[in-house]
Amino acid sequence: MRVSYASASDVGKVRSANQDAVYADESTFLVADGMGGHAGGGVASSTAVKVIVDLLRQGEDPMVAIQEANRAIFERGMKDSSLAGMGTTLTLAKTDGTDGALNVFNIGDSRAYLLRQGRLRKLTNDHTFVQELVDAGSITVEQASTHHARHVLTRALGVDPEVEVDRFFVPIEGGDTLLICSDGLVNEVAEGRIAELLADLEPSEAVKKLVEEANANGGNDNISVVVARFHRGDGDDHLVSVAAGHKESRATVSGVATAPKGSAPTGLVVSDIPSPIPKSAVERPMVFRPVLRLLGFVAVLVLFFLAIVVAIALYVNHSYYVGVAGKRVAIYQGRIGGLLWFKPHVVQDTDLTVSKLTPAFRSQVTHGVPESSFADARSFVANMKYQLSAFAHTGSSVK
Ligand code: MN
Repeated sequence: MRVSYASASDVGKVRSANQDAVYADESTFLVADGMGGHAGGGVASSTAVKVIVDLLRQGEDPMVAIQEANRAIFERGMKDSSLAGMGTTLTLAKTDGTDGALNVFNIGDSRAYLLRQGRLRKLTNDHTFVQELVDAGSITVEQASTHHARHVLTRALGVDPEVEVDRFFVPIEGGDTLLICSDGLVNEVAEGRIAELLADLEPSEAVKKLVEEANANGGNDNISVVVARFHRGDGDDHLVSVAAGHKESRATVSGVATAPKGSAPTGLVVSDIPSPIPKSAVERPMVFRPVLRLLGFVAVLVLFFLAIVVAIALYVNHSYYVGVAGKRVAIYQGRIGGLLWFKPHVVQDTDLTVSKLTPAFRSQVTHGVPESSFADARSFVANMKYQLSAFAHTGSSVK
C-alpha cells in the first residue's frame, strides 16, 4: 500500500491565533486542537504533536506515546499558572505496518473519516457534552450541530494525569481516503460536501479546497485537515507526499512534493488560500469533565446511601424480639432500642404479666430477647408460659 497525503492548518477568519496543530508523514497522520487560555491551547497542541511524533519515530507504541504526551502537557500546566488547565484534542491515525490497516486513536472532538467508493464514514466518536446528550436521546444530531455547548469537551489530552483513549482498527483498501480534521472544518462544511471534495480531488488539492470552503462559510474557528489516499500495488499513480500546514504559517499549504523511487519529482505545491482577517479570539471553553466527574461522584454517593437505607430497612423488618409493653410481655418487630429512625413496634400482645414471671425471665424480657423470626419469638413466649405453668403445678412461688 502506498500513500499520497497532504495537510493544512489555518487560523480561520475570527480567531487571533491558530491553536491547532497538524502532522503527516507516510505512516502517521495527526490533528490536535488546543484549548485553555490565551497561550495554553497552542502549547498543548504543539506539545502533543512533538512528543507523539518523537516517540513514534523511536518505535514507541502509539498508546504509550499518547500517555506520555498527556503527562507532558499536564505537568507543564501544573508548573506554569498561565498554562493551567490547558489541553488538546488528539486524533491520530497510524498505519500498522501490515499493509492494509490503520490504528486510529481519538480524544476530544477532532474527527477521522474514511471515504470509500464515494461514501464518507466517520471513524471516531466525539467526546463532547452534546454527543452525550445525543447518545442519551435527549437531543438530535441536528440540534447538536447548533447547540450552544457543542464545543464543550468531556475528554481532552493533558487535563488529567491520565487519559482514556478511544482506539479503532480500520482495515483499508486501495483507493480509500482518510481525512482527519478539527471541528473548525466540520462546523463550517457539510459532510456531503466534504465527501464530494475528497472524491474529486487529489489530497494536496483537497486540503486547500476544504480550508477555503470552511473560511468562505465563516471560518469561525481554526481549521485543520489531513488527507491521505491509499494506493494498492505498484500502479502508475503518482505518489505525492506534501509536507504542509505548519501552525504558525497561517494560510499557506506549502512543501516539497516527493516522488516514489524511480519516478520524476512532481514539483512544488503552493497554496493560494487568502490571508485570514484576525479578530478577537473566542476561546474554547474549558473541559467539562471535572463537573461530570463530580456529578458522577454525587450520584454514586446517593445510590450508596439509598442502598444502605434499604439494607437497614430489610434487616429491621426481619428482626423480632420479646419485650415489655406496659405491664405485659409483647412481641416487637424491629431492633431493641431502635436503629436510626426505625423504631420497634408491637406486633403481638400476650396475656403474660411481667410481674408474674420468674426473676430470670423477668430480667430477660425487660432487656429484650432478640429472635430471628416472629415464629421464634412466639416459641419463646410459649416456652415461658409452659415453664410458668410447670412452676405453678409444683407449687413453687413466683415472686
Ligand atoms: Mn476547534
